[in-house]
Amino acid sequence: MYSEFIGKVVLITGAASGIGRATAVRFAETGTKVVVADVDQHGGEQTVQRVQSFGGTALFVRADVSKEADVAALVQKTIETFGRLDYAVNNAGIEGVSAPLTDIKSEDFDRVINVNLRSVWLCMKYELPELLKQGGAIVNMSSVAGLVGFSGSSPYVASKHAIVGLTKTAALEYSKQGVRINAINPGVIMTPMIDRIASANSEIINQLEVAHPIGRTGNPEEIAAAVVWLCSNEASFITGVTLPVDGGFVAQ
Ligand code: NAD
Repeated sequence: MYSEFIGKVVLITGAASGIGRATAVRFAETGTKVVVADVDQHGGEQTVQRVQSFGGTALFVRADVSKEADVAALVQKTIETFGRLDYAVNNAGIEGVSAPLTDIKSEDFDRVINVNLRSVWLCMKYELPELLKQGGAIVNMSSVAGLVGFSGSSPYVASKHAIVGLTKTAALEYSKQGVRINAINPGVIMTPMIDRIASANSEIINQLEVAHPIGRTGNPEEIAAAVVWLCSNEASFITGVTLPVDGGFVAQ
C-alpha cells in the first residue's frame, strides 16, 4: 500500500511529539524520507531515532514556525539534504491559555495566532514553490475547534477556524498545478497537549471521552493514518476539504 511514497520527501512541523511524531513514523513506514521540524530538539531527535530504529530515513531541523527566517531555512535545509519536497504537514501548535475572552492578554492572543495560524501561512508560502516543481500535497492541522466554538479558548478556536479558510483558499489557488491542500480536524487525541490540559483538571479525561459519540478519545496514530491517506493517490480527487477525524464529535 502507498508504494508511491517510496523515495519521496515529507516535511512535518511539530514532529517532536504527539500527532506530528506519529505522522513522521507512519510516513517513514511507507518509505518516505521525513524532515522532523520542531522547537524541541530533544523530542525531535527522539522521533528521528524511532524512525531510524526500523530502517527509515529522517532528519531533525530545529525551527520555530512562527519565525519567517526559521521557516525559510527549514525548507532550504530540506532541499539541500534530500533534493525535493513532495508533501508537507503543517501541524505545530499550542493550546494557549484557557480563560474567558476578557481575561486573556493581547500578547497571549498574538502568541497563539502566530504559532498556530501565521505559521501555517508561512510554511505554505515557502513549501509551495518546492511542491509545484513536481506536484504534491499539503495537510494543515486544524481541530474540531476549527468547526465549533469552545468556551474559554477564544485564541485557539480563532486560529483553528482560520486554518480552515486558509486551506480552502490555498487549495483553490494551486488546484490546477498539481498540489492538493486539505485540513484535518482532530477530536481529542491523547498527546502531551491533552496531558497538560488534564493536569489542571483530573476529571476532564472522563468528560472528554463521554463528549465523543464513539465513547473514547482518539490516539495519534488515527490522525497519522488520515494524514498519509490524504497525501496519497487514493485521495487524488480531494482538495480544499477539512476532514473531521473525531469519533463523531461534530456530527452532534
Ligand atoms: P503536542 O504538544 O504533543 O505537540 C505539538 C508539537 O508542536 C510539540 O512538539 C511542540 O514542541 C511543537 N511546537 C510548538 N510550538 C512550536 C513552534 N513555534 N515551532 C515549532 N514547533 C512548535 O500536541 P499535539 O496534540 O500533537 O498537537 C499537534 C497539532 O494537533 C496541534 O496543531 C494541535 O492544535 C492539533 N490538535 C490536537 C488535538 C489533540 O487533542 N491533541 C486536537 C485537535 C487538534
